[in-house]
Order: sequence, then C-alpha cells, then structure tokens
Amino acid sequence: MPRGTKIVATIGPASNTPEILTRMFVAGVNVVRLNFSHGKAQDHIDRAAMVREAALSCGREVAIMADLQGPKIRIGKFEQGRIELSNGDKFILDADCTMGNQERVGLDYKALPRDVKPNDFLLLNDGLIVLVVDRIIGSEIHTTVKIGGELSNNKGINRQGGGLTAPALTSKDMEDIKTAMSFQADYIAVSFPKNATDMEMARQLSNIAGEPYGHKPMMIAKIERAEAIPLLQEILDASDGIMVARGDLAVEVGNAAVPALQKRMIKMARASNKLAITATQMMESMIVNAVPTRAEVSDVANAVLDGTDAVMTSAETASGKYPVETVEMMAAVCLEAEKSHKCELDADFLNVQFTRIDQSIAYGALFTAYHLRVKAIVALTESGSTTLWMSRHNIDIPLIALTPSRTTQRKIALYRNVRTYELPYHADRDTMLANAEAILIDNKVVQKGDTIVVTWGEPMGQVGGTNALKIVRVGE
Ligand code: PGA
Ligand code: MN
Repeated sequence: MPRGTKIVATIGPASNTPEILTRMFVAGVNVVRLNFSHGKAQDHIDRAAMVREAALSCGREVAIMADLQGPKIRIGKFEQGRIELSNGDKFILDADCTMGNQERVGLDYKALPRDVKPNDFLLLNDGLIVLVVDRIIGSEIHTTVKIGGELSNNKGINRQGGGLTAPALTSKDMEDIKTAMSFQADYIAVSFPKNATDMEMARQLSNIAGEPYGHKPMMIAKIERAEAIPLLQEILDASDGIMVARGDLAVEVGNAAVPALQKRMIKMARASNKLAITATQMMESMIVNAVPTRAEVSDVANAVLDGTDAVMTSAETASGKYPVETVEMMAAVCLEAEKSHKCELDADFLNVQFTRIDQSIAYGALFTAYHLRVKAIVALTESGSTTLWMSRHNIDIPLIALTPSRTTQRKIALYRNVRTYELPYHADRDTMLANAEAILIDNKVVQKGDTIVVTWGEPMGQVGGTNALKIVRVGE
C-alpha cells in the first residue's frame, strides 16, 4: 500500500524555488501551506503560481492552503530590536507606546488592556516568556516577569485560559481571502476561530471572493483557542476540517492538555465526516538537524495512529535547513506507522447514521470491499464526497477517486487514504467504466483479473448523484 497519511508543508524562504518545491513534491508533499502571517499579497500570488507550475511539471496534484493570520495579538517593536527580561522585573504592555524599550512595549491590539485583569498570566513568544498582570492603568498593563528571557519585535501574546475578545477575522484577513481566491486556493485555514459563526463568516467571505472564479474553497478551522474546545462540535459542523494547532493551543490550555485533546479532536472530526490536520513542531529539530529526534518520530507516528488525515510542517520546510529531508522523513514515518496498524472496519460501523442515497452507496461499498477483500474501491466522483465518507473509516484497501475535475483532485489531496486520477467525463456509462479500468491498470493500481468495487451516479455527470455500485472483475 502506498502512504495514506497526507503531508502539508508550509513554504517560505527555505523552499522558495521551483527546484526545492519539486523535490519536496516528489518526496511526498500533498498540500502546500502559504502562511499569510508573513509576506505581502504579491509574494503569495507568486508562490502559488510557482507551486502550481512545479506540481504540473512533476505530475502531482498538490493543493494550496491559504492560512490567514487571524487576530494573533502581538507586541510592537523595540528600539534595539530586542530586550532581555529577568524574573521579577516590572514590565508594561502599553497600547499607546510606539517604540519599545526595557520598561515598556506597544501592542497591535489596542483593546487588550480592557480584556485582562490582575493576576492573569500573559504568555509571550509561544509561552517562553510569562508575565503576571499587577494592575491596569488606562492604556497600560503593568506586569511582573514570572519567566524571563529574550523578547524581540512583534512576538505573539496569549492569555492562559484564553478569552481575549479580538474578532476572528481582521480586515487584513478579509483582504487576504481575496488574494487567496485570485489564485483559487483549495483550502482556507482560519486562525483563532472562537465559534461556528466565525467559520460561517469566513466561508461566506471566501465564497463571495471566489465567485468570479467559480470557486468555493474548503474551510479549515484552526483550533488554537481555549474557548473553541467546548464548541468543537459546532465549529466542526460549520467547517470542512480542523487543524490541531498545537502551537497556540498549548499556550492557552497548557502543554499537558494537548495530547489528549489531539486524540479527541481527530476522533470527533472523523465521526463528523470532517478532515483533521495535526500541526506544529512535528519535526522541529529538523530546522537545524538533518535527522529528527526519537520523540519527534514518535509524535508523527502517533498522529497517524490517532487517525489524522495529514501531518504538517511549519518552520522545518519554511525556513529550516532541511526542507526536503523533513518531508522524506515524515513520509517514511507515516508509512511505517500505517503498516503497524492492524486495520479493521470500525466496530461501530453498523451504527453509522445516514439517510442519503449516495452515503448508503459509500458505506455499502466499504462493507462489500472489506468482506470480499477486493483490490481497490473506486469512486467515479464529481465532488469527492463519496471518498470522504469512505475515508472516515479504517480500511486497508486503497480508495481511488476518479474525477474529471482538477479542483476535486486537489481537494482530495488532503483526504487520508484516498488517491486520485483524472477520468474525463463521458455520457455513456459502459465507456466510462472501461476507461476507469484502463486508468487503474495504467497506474498499476490493479491488474487484469483483480476484483474491485466501483461506485458512480446515473445519469452520469451529476454532482452528488452516486446511486450505483458494481463489483467488477478487471478485464472481463
Ligand atoms: P501558526 O498556527 O503556525 O499559524 O501559529 C499553528 C499553531 O498555532 O499551532
Ligand atoms: Mn497559531
């Protein structure tokens, strides 16, 4: 079996050439993340074009995920670029300060002094620096340094326990959505959503911006706020998938809570027919080293065993020394973890609730394929929904999506265990089935004589119309 877990790679200065991108794609990248926290609109437009071209040149379907910056609250800049804070120091976060020094620094979110209260813990630079709030005086938050260290320009601020009220979509995000739609980003990742409304709003804006291109992107909710956790189900319902955004999440809920949350979030996503991406620090040491730590290898493998659709790289591939090696290593770890996992159709499979005809065909195909031990389950699909439903269940049989749509192929790039090939539309069903067999044989998915399960919709070419299932002996 080829690797089923997908790889999302953040690109940046370390991976900004067609050569490196091509090597990363060949090594196994399925989705590229453009991080809108850095760079200008034109940079992202140029990178997107480079990604599409490199993918085409090496014959891979690689999706693009535009990751919005969101309302990450940041401190301002320092006169010297950085300061050193010692435990016990007094330090002021001042919404009115324009240039920071040893005593105080500015804030890009002017309302922060209204959101915090004495004894709150404020975590800076991903939790490496901890300040305790003493009192608020007008625009000034007076604090005492609990854990000191070097603090440099524009570092992020979180409050332990969450609850900062900055709105989820900033005006910059709204502009960035337009930029992302101009190159038809396949996925939009929304940072710091608090609830379903934030996701609905982001989807609406994306669909409007995508309209001139006839494009509707898939929406990923980054779960990185404490208050998103109790609302996970409604956020899932309003999204196409979630990212377990362990960087900010760990700062808000505490490091120790994250591993169990990761498992619960992935499980809930799958049960809701949604996607899950596991992100942040997965191969962190490969930013500087050519090999990962044993702990990082285990982390990637455990995310695979948790059922994640994809594992993600951040700085490793954006600014690290070994972008290609990181992807190679991740791919190898995923493959090995998948092999170790004994696959059984979920025990509660019979309890799956559904009323739709296309869904009943999808589950019927799974059930049949599992018991007949066929070589592949093949879905002729316009939208990819059939393969999404099938891929939410553990099965060690290849799921193949055949579709006339490039957009659908790229969307599916994130679905665990699903591979796609292009199958041009044909009005005649028998011709279409024969063409499907030929593609599968050409790509060595099956051989003459193998048994496969095929699903499709009649009449051919309608979205969401899957209503047929056939057990086929290839070449007969
Ligand atoms: P970021 O999100 O890399 O955009 O901060 C991921 C995370 O917080 O884990
Ligand atoms: Mn984050």
